[in-house]
Amino acid sequence: MNHYPSLLDMIAALIGIPSVSCVDPALDQGNLAVIELLAGWLEDSGFAVEVMPLDGQPARANLIATLGQGPDGLVLSGHTDTVPFDAGQWRHDPFRLVEADQRLYGLGTSDMKAFLALALEAVRTLQERDLAQPVILLATADEETSMAGARVLLEQGRPRARHAIIGEPTGLRPVRMHKGIFMEAIRLRGRSGHSSDPALGNSALEAMHRVITALLAWRAQLQARYHNACFAVPVPTLNLGHIHGGDNPNRICADCELHIDLRPLPGMDIAELRAELHRQVESTLQGTGIRCEFQALFEGIPALETPAGAEIVRLAERLTGHAPEAVAFGTEGPYLSALGMDTVILGPGDIAQAHQPDEYLALDRLQPTVELLQAVIKSVCVRH
Ligand SMILES: [Zn+2]
Repeated sequence: MNHYPSLLDMIAALIGIPSVSCVDPALDQGNLAVIELLAGWLEDSGFAVEVMPLDGQPARANLIATLGQGPDGLVLSGHTDTVPFDAGQWRHDPFRLVEADQRLYGLGTSDMKAFLALALEAVRTLQERDLAQPVILLATADEETSMAGARVLLEQGRPRARHAIIGEPTGLRPVRMHKGIFMEAIRLRGRSGHSSDPALGNSALEAMHRVITALLAWRAQLQARYHNACFAVPVPTLNLGHIHGGDNPNRICADCELHIDLRPLPGMDIAELRAELHRQVESTLQGTGIRCEFQALFEGIPALETPAGAEIVRLAERLTGHAPEAVAFGTEGPYLSALGMDTVILGPGDIAQAHQPDEYLALDRLQPTVELLQAVIKSVCVRH
C-alpha cells in the first residue's frame, strides 16, 4: 500500500496508455493495458478483481472490481477508451498529462479515464468490514464505437447493483435522461437504361425521392406524437445524413443509397422504431419493382430515463445542488439500467472539452469529485 500512486500519478498513468477506439481499424487500439493497470491498483486496495475479456478480441476487456457483498451496491463506472485525436492540433502530446493554467491536459482527462482514477482515490481507504453494501468499480471497453463492452455486461448479466454513477463529462451536474440513437442505410436497386426512354429502366433515384418524402412525413408524425420538455430539442429527430445514387446524367439510376440517424426520446423503443422505418420504406416502394435492403450502420443505444424519485438521483441532486438534467449525448447508462441499476450520469469533465484538441480537466474539479463520490458511498454503502 505504501507504493500506492498519488491521484495525479494515476491520472497520468491512465492518460499515458493509448486506448483509442475507432471504427477505422487503422486507428483502433485495445484497452487491455488500461484494464490491467486499474486491476493492479484495485487488487492492492483489497478489491476482488475480475477481468472480463470480450469474445474473440484479446486486446479488449471490461473490469469489475468489488469490495463488500450484497444486492444493493453502488457501481462507479467509466469507459477506458478514448476517441481518436487530431494529430498536430494539440499543444501538448495527448498521451502525456500536462498541468498548466490550473488544468490537466490530455486525451481522456475529461472523457473520461481521469474519472476512474478519481473513483479509485475515493475508495482506496475503504475497509470491507465497514460496508453494508458493496462498492463496485466498473471499467468498460469500446464505449466510443460499438458499446461492445456494455453489451457483454448485459449478456452476462453482471454486475448487479442498485445504483450506478457513470462519470461521463457533465460538469458535476447530475443527468438522468438522454436520447437514444441508431443509424441505418437504405439501399434501393432499380434498373439502368438509356435516359432517352424511361421505359428502358427503373430509377432508384426517383424511388428514393418518394422514400425521402415518406420519411419526412413519418418524422413529422413522430414529432407530433412524442415530446419531452426536459430536452433542449424536445422531439425525436431523424436526419438525412448521406445520399449517393447513379453515375451519369444520361443513364437511368439503378442504385441509390441513403444513410439516416434517428434519435428517440425515452419511452421510444429502438427495435420497434427500426421495424416501423422498414415498413414505411417498403410500403412506399410497393408495386414499383424497386428492391430494397436495409443495413444497421449503428445498432443503436437506447434512450436513458432514470426516475426523478430514485434514491441515487435525489442524493446526487442534494449533494451537487443541481436539479437532474437531460443531455444530448448517449452513454452506457441504458445498459446499466437494463441490469437493474438506477443510473445517474455525473462526472467532473465538461462535454465541451470532450472529443476536442487540448482536452482538459480543470484542477478544481478533482477534490469535489472525490468528496462527492465519498459522500455517495457513505450514504448508500457504508454501515451506519
Ligand atoms: Zn465518454
